[in-house]
Amino acid sequence: MLKIGLTGGIASGKTTVSDHFARLGVPVIDTDQISRELVEPGKPALAEIQKQLGARFLSADGSLNRRLLREHIFADDAAKTTLESILHPAIQKEVERQLPRIKNEPYAILVVPLLVENNLGYMSDRILLVDAPESLQLQRVRQRDGSTEKQAKKILAAQASREARRNAADDIILNTGALQDLHRQVEKLHKQYLSLKARSD
Ligand code: ATP
Repeated sequence: MLKIGLTGGIASGKTTVSDHFARLGVPVIDTDQISRELVEPGKPALAEIQKQLGARFLSADGSLNRRLLREHIFADDAAKTTLESILHPAIQKEVERQLPRIKNEPYAILVVPLLVENNLGYMSDRILLVDAPESLQLQRVRQRDGSTEKQAKKILAAQASREARRNAADDIILNTGALQDLHRQVEKLHKQYLSLKARSD
């Protein structure tokens, strides 16, 4: 099965794009969602985070204090590496667990937000980028999350550059227009992926 790694910066439109692929009947595996589920209370990855990074990352109710952990790994590269060594293999394992269920589909979308930053290209056969200029990303993130300009800029600065993402991509969806335009680009790629798969069989 063809695996398309879908990536893009914060608020570029990844979810909007993957939702439309799903509407076309394409299976979507979202590694962001998997990573959230992996650290739910009682899960082994959360216990490992507690053991290796410290109990202070757990809130009183036993859930992960994501904000505190995010701030910590932002400032501490070793902690970031430790967190990744816990999460990446577990994510990969869960993706592999989900793939056989959809093995008869021509292709699947694998949403990997930090594909470029974390060199996760090996997880997919082809990289699809949802691309938008930073000014639009900032506008969308502020509108959606109510973030301040400063917070939004800080997140953007920590992510891969637009150029680095564009260099890594096989296919690019430019999300600067209306939703209708975005949907049309998804539908065009859907046809291309179906024929790519048919040709490779
Ligand atoms: P994140 O990285 O934070 O998970 P994302 O890349 O999944 O974000 P979306 O959630 O799909 O991005 O989009 C960000 C916001 O911008 C959402 O509120 C979405 O509705 C809006 N949006 C995305 N594309 C468009 C568009 N073409 N026209 C109007 N609004 C859009």
